Amino acid sequence: MRTLLLAACFGFLTNCAGPGIGKYKDAVVADVPVSPESGVRVTYLGVNGYLLQSSDATVLVDPFFSRPPLRNYLVGEVKPNKDRIDWGMRSFPATVDLILVTHGHIDHLLDVPIIAQRTGAKIVASHTSCNLVKSLNQVPEWQLAPMLKMKPGGKLDLSLQETKNFENVTVQALYTEHDRLCGIELNPGTEDNPPATPPKSAHDWVAGEPLAFIITMGGKRIFISAGMVHAPRQKNLAPVDLAITGVALNDPRSCLAETVRILKPKYVLPSHQDNFFIPAERGFRFSVQSDFEEVKRELPPPTWELGKNLILLDYFRPWTLY
Ligand SMILES: [Zn+2]
Repeated sequence: MRTLLLAACFGFLTNCAGPGIGKYKDAVVADVPVSPESGVRVTYLGVNGYLLQSSDATVLVDPFFSRPPLRNYLVGEVKPNKDRIDWGMRSFPATVDLILVTHGHIDHLLDVPIIAQRTGAKIVASHTSCNLVKSLNQVPEWQLAPMLKMKPGGKLDLSLQETKNFENVTVQALYTEHDRLCGIELNPGTEDNPPATPPKSAHDWVAGEPLAFIITMGGKRIFISAGMVHAPRQKNLAPVDLAITGVALNDPRSCLAETVRILKPKYVLPSHQDNFFIPAERGFRFSVQSDFEEVKRELPPPTWELGKNLILLDYFRPWTLY
């Protein structure tokens, strides 16, 4: 029954591609793609994937390009698509320092082992996500950052000194909870140890312990989450310069106002709104479950203006946060 309901929800999601990002062109920001001497250059990679570049670090969050078709989410195997990963990585710089992963689902973790293998970047992820990666035997252990197991309200500052001389870069991992589709948790579960056999189906890529992050780099503080049931409960998070908040579903949209009140961001960038069953080469299309009108309504005072402080990014069109 549960599978049937999920199949119905997925079918609805897939078959009804929403409008392109042009519908909200007033909200889209972009600038000349130059390496910033100050600030952070933010490049949207689709889904909840971002490339963050500053003079002191290069960080990826949830890079995902494979985008398997719907049927692979329901039955059979899901595999990284190397051609699409090549395409997605074409604009990456020579060096990537860190890959932050919010949770273990395929639209966040599937492509990470291959990208880590190719870039040598360190993976910062939950206990479960690290165990899923370990089971694949593709990434050496030194590339896996401390595994995190946190409780509600948990906040952990990662030690990055052993990774590189990151004097001005910090990553704070925050406990969060995954949103639900049609009231159902999607592929919940944890892996206390690397599974004996590597994940094959979408169901094997379990959510694990979802994380949000606050990244300090280029003199800016950036919050990112994939989607939450509750607003962050940790203390002393505000202010942030940019809040990238996953709002794919109703759950995170319903806690958006509280999230913004807690974080006090200069800019809000709603994320994870696109239909990720469509290859990224075809351009941004909203998912039918996303609702940017509701996002605009949910935001609390003061005033949020499209393209000023409430922004959207198009695929691979960088914008610099000064
Ligand atoms: Zn997920």
